[in-house]
Amino acid sequence: MLLEDLRRQVVNVGLEALERGVVHGTAGNMSVRDRASGLIAISPSGIPYPSVSPADVVIVDDQGKTIDGTRKPSSETPLHTMVMRARPDIAAIVHTHSHYSTVVSCIRPCLPAILTEVCLAVGDTIPVTRYGLTGTADFGESVVEVVTPETKAVIIKNHGLICFGKDFDEALLTAEIVEEAAKVYVHALAANGGREPDLVPAGLIPEMRERFLASYGQATPA
Ligand SMILES: [Zn+2]
Repeated sequence: MLLEDLRRQVVNVGLEALERGVVHGTAGNMSVRDRASGLIAISPSGIPYPSVSPADVVIVDDQGKTIDGTRKPSSETPLHTMVMRARPDIAAIVHTHSHYSTVVSCIRPCLPAILTEVCLAVGDTIPVTRYGLTGTADFGESVVEVVTPETKAVIIKNHGLICFGKDFDEALLTAEIVEEAAKVYVHALAANGGREPDLVPAGLIPEMRERFLASYGQATPA
């Protein structure tokens, strides 16, 4: 089977996302790129996560053309391939319809710096796209046009969330962190009578990030 390891990764990240409450039912889709060939393994369309086997995962090229597989690839394949083309440095994408991120997409132009953790691990603000026409290239375009070389997550207007990383571990963790921040933001807005809540002071974020990147985690054993 072509790129069996990547196909297994797509199956496993789906199960992991389901278990961690990041996705529900058949909503959301995931893809991972083979660095050597540039081919992409992507979720099949409309199969519940527990029923997906490696053979159901579809291998497409970076234009979305099926190279191997008997299933139809995710209907959101153009979104994945357009992001993969825009960001050659990333290898994994997790797209979800996370509830609170979607709420933010309906009311704000971005998710502001509400939690220290999201500022450190993802970025100070998470952009929200304009509305893109689902099922057309315009949908992928609406995401790509707000992606910078540093972007790790984008909230998709009236739709959901898309997170990128060097691998699925990073992309899935980003999806969890952004959704938690969106949840706190929505609750903070409500608790504050709809007024903007206190945010992480913008002037402190660059220094915080520097310290975090220099000191987080365990020292590598000599
Ligand atoms: Zn979607």
